[in-house]
Formats: sequence, C-alpha cells, structure tokens
Amino acid sequence: MDCLFCKIMAGEIPCTKVYEDEWVFAFRDINPQAPVHVLVMPKAHMSDIMACDGETMAHLLDAIQTIAKQEGVDKDGFRIVSNCGKNGAQSVGHLHIHLLGGRQLADSMA
Ligand code: 5GP
Ligand code: ZN
Repeated sequence: MDCLFCKIMAGEIPCTKVYEDEWVFAFRDINPQAPVHVLVMPKAHMSDIMACDGETMAHLLDAIQTIAKQEGVDKDGFRIVSNCGKNGAQSVGHLHIHLLGGRQLADSMA
C-alpha cells in the first residue's frame, strides 16, 4: 500500500520513534508546531477517525496517556487533535492523533 505512515512504521522512511506497542506506533512530527509534537497512530492502516473502531481508539488513548507522561506534559497539560478529511485539513491518509504540548497553546482551536 502506498501509505507514507505505513512506510514510516515499516522503517522504509526514517522517523524519531517515541513509543510502540502491539497496536500503536508514535513518532515525532517532522514539522513540529510545539516543543512536543507527536503523531500517535494505529499500526493497522485505516484512513481516518471515521474508519476507527472503539477497541483501536482505546489502545490509542492508553498510548496517549503513556506518551504524555513520557514526554513530561501530563502535569501542565497538552492537546490532542485528529484532522479528518478535506475540511479537517487532513494531509496524510492514515489515522493519526497529534499530541501537542510543552508550551501554552493558543485558545483558538481552528
Ligand atoms: P495531518 O495534516 O494529516 O493532520 O498531519 C500530517 C502530519 O504529518 C503533519 O503535521 C506533517 O508535518 C507530518 N508529516 C508529514 N510527512 C512526514 C514525514 O515524512 N515524517 C514525519 N515525522 N512527519 C511527517
Ligand atoms: Zn497506512
């Protein structure tokens, strides 16, 4: 499958991995929008949040909590965002959740 994030997971394209388990792979965004900017994705290819199931989302949530602690943003807080589709400005078609933190984020969401 011609999927950028599947290729990153397979090691065909380098990345800075921050977390991996049986279900989830997470790595640093190449163009970070905050001091901590991690992309958290399911290992199974699925296009976006509309293609996700509850079990997978539960594993993503567990991973997000672990990564937030690992990155030291659990105390001061952070933001998670998953862009979906055209109006959501999704640019890579493999479901991923942005974890942003390490500074005071803007009030504005969009
Ligand atoms: P989206 O716009 O789909 O929500 O987010 C895609 C994210 O993937 C962007 O923040 C972009 O910077 C990041 N990205 C795109 N290509 C690469 C890459 O090759 N490596 C890494 N680490 N991040 C990437
Ligand atoms: Zn993929």
